[in-house]
Amino acid sequence: MTDEKLSRRQLLQTAIAGLAAVPAAGLLAHPAEVAMLSETDATAKSLGYVADAKSVDAKANPNYKPGQTCANCMQYTGKAGAAAGPCNIFPGKDVAAAGWCKVWVLKPGAKVG
Ligand code: SF4
Repeated sequence: MTDEKLSRRQLLQTAIAGLAAVPAAGLLAHPAEVAMLSETDATAKSLGYVADAKSVDAKANPNYKPGQTCANCMQYTGKAGAAAGPCNIFPGKDVAAAGWCKVWVLKPGAKVG
């Protein structure tokens, strides 16, 4: 009987530990379906975000240099080679790896171009 109670306790503890791990794993994993940031989003507009860095208005953005993209920006946390990924500036949305905005800063160790 004592062994049975111990087994139930162990089972309950294991189940609780498992339940606690599920939300944590969910937070760490990037959801499969994340909306893309729109160029018309108010914050995106204010930061001059474009999904294709080649369409940056160089006159309006004199700091922009060809080769600067979200993929080589410090704020980009997407996987290398992916078409899109998360950006620290736009939580909850993915930005295009080929995109660009005014707060672009070279990712340490990355190269432009
Ligand atoms: S902060 Fe960097 S990664 Fe985010 S949108 Fe701007 S250029 Fe792209």
